[in-house]
Amino acid sequence: MQTNVKDVYAAGDCASQFNKVKQKNDYVPLGTHANKQGMIAGQNLAGESVTFKGMTGTSILKFLDLQIGRTGLSEKEANDLSLNYDSVTITTRPVAGYYSDEETLTVKLVFEKETKHLLGGQIIGHKGVDKRIDVLATALFHNMTTVALLDLDLSYAPPFNGVWDPIQQAAKRTL
Ligand SMILES: Cc1cc2nc3c(=O)[nH]c(=O)nc-3n(C[C@H](O)[C@H](O)[C@H](O)COP(=O)(O)OP(=O)(O)OC[C@H]3O[C@@H](n4cnc5c(N)ncnc54)[C@H](O)[C@@H]3O)c2cc1C
Repeated sequence: MQTNVKDVYAAGDCASQFNKVKQKNDYVPLGTHANKQGMIAGQNLAGESVTFKGMTGTSILKFLDLQIGRTGLSEKEANDLSLNYDSVTITTRPVAGYYSDEETLTVKLVFEKETKHLLGGQIIGHKGVDKRIDVLATALFHNMTTVALLDLDLSYAPPFNGVWDPIQQAAKRTL
């Protein structure tokens, strides 16, 4: 977090962040990055040697009764970066199908066409968006493929999920 001026540090909305997916500095001013960068700047000021590990551009918001989450690249961003990408979009249930058929969840995955590396995801629905987008954010942070998403041991009981989580259902469509 040290700037180009020795002993002057920058963190939060006045600093950029390394975007792990784009592999370059980016500007996504959020409280999540501000707090991590503030802690890291403080540790370095106190004599430690710590680096900010980057971000993937994860955010979530509530619009009326809709939950909307994103991580990584949108299709437009992948296109702007001239990446060889593909995408899948599915609409499914956030809980077991026989448990409630009232709500739906729409999941979109953006991934590299050849390697199937995850590039991003967007999820919209009335419930369960937060846990899915955070699983995708973790997968993205650790450079996982959509195929590897199928191996994840995710929680299932009828009030919470189907046996295949919605992001795994979407990942199956990328095979
Ligand atoms: C409406 C809104 C909703 C948001 N929701 C989310 C969210 O849901 N999730 C999320 O991750 N992020 C959210 N953010 C972004 C998040 O709040 C910021 O990214 C974060 O607060 C940045 O932290 P910071 O410490 O860099 O700056 P700030 O939190 O802006 O802190 C800067 C401080 O410096 C003070 N200051 C300014 N000038 C001077 C001066 N000359 N002398 C002394 N003090 C000064 C200011 O008063 C302020 O207290 C939201 C932002 C807004 C505006």
